Amino acid sequence: MDLDRLGVHESTSIDFPFEVLAAELADDVPEVVPVGGSDGVDPATCDAFVTFTHQPALLDADPVWIHTTQAGVDGFPFDAYESRDIPLTNSAGLHGDSVGETAIGMCFALGRRLHQFARQQTRREWSFPEWDAAFTLRGEPVTVVGLGTIGSAVAERADALGMTVTGVRRSDDPVPGVETLVSPDRLHDAIRDARFVVLAVPLTDETEGLVGPSAFDAMREDAYLVNVARGPVVDQDALVEALEAGEIAGAALDVFEEEPLSEDSPLWGMDDVIVTPHAAVADREFYVRVADRVRENVERLRTGRSLENRVV
Ligand code: NDP
Repeated sequence: MDLDRLGVHESTSIDFPFEVLAAELADDVPEVVPVGGSDGVDPATCDAFVTFTHQPALLDADPVWIHTTQAGVDGFPFDAYESRDIPLTNSAGLHGDSVGETAIGMCFALGRRLHQFARQQTRREWSFPEWDAAFTLRGEPVTVVGLGTIGSAVAERADALGMTVTGVRRSDDPVPGVETLVSPDRLHDAIRDARFVVLAVPLTDETEGLVGPSAFDAMREDAYLVNVARGPVVDQDALVEALEAGEIAGAALDVFEEEPLSEDSPLWGMDDVIVTPHAAVADREFYVRVADRVRENVERLRTGRSLENRVV
């Protein structure tokens, strides 16, 4: 079927302005219009949508297809899509470079003390770190939990830096750069020796609370947790306790149980904790990759083929 009018929901503006996506798709879709917000058109006039978050009003418009610019679809009620027979596609596969670089950047910051220097700079403070605080990443063991687009990108970069990479995934498909592959039931064995534990799993019933008290017990006292996956993969109270008790050395967190992170969270004030506002994905070229995915699926709809990255 041909798609005449594609609505782009205002929630996508977290990643890019409506206009740049519309311009990128101008040759592929007859009309691309904004939906939601004060300038938005009536969703009922659109055939399909691109959105960031789940929006019941878009389902009510009975579109032929909805695409989310997110990779993680834990916020989307699958049964609502299923019961109305509305396909949902996601953006998994598009975040390897951005989130992969952010996760490695976090490891660099923690090892090379860049977060500490950035804080000192705001105080105009010139001081050298403790003699044994800084270290280099070369030779350090890192365990990457979840080896899809993001985890593989982290593993590839870590390997290129000379780190020793252990990976955790359910399937045993090998991943370039991963020296040892471990199944999730042996998570604690996989993280026991790691200097960095990087989380890159989707949030599912299986992964909710995956990293809790027993995982912190298993980790080294000089280990850092890097979470670029989803907040609830980590038991956040247990993380705070582990940090306060010195069970682990620190953390770099892009995602939290509740977002934005509440102002009174102790995580904000901890010396060896980096807090970023769920922005690991931020990338000025992201809209181009979203447009490619949308373009591909518009073409698939037109030629009656199954949609790429269909999750419902
Ligand atoms: P992918 O679907 O490409 O990869 C997910 C991987 O996780 C799969 O390879 C899967 O491998 C593995 N996995 C699934 N369940 C488990 C489990 N129980 N234990 C270990 N591994 C598991 O997704 P992406 O890499 O693109 O994204 C991963 C997640 O990162 C997203 O779901 C999203 O929540 C989050 N994300 C965060 C962003 C941010 O801005 N911070 C941006 C984009 C995504 P296998 O099947 O072999 O287990």
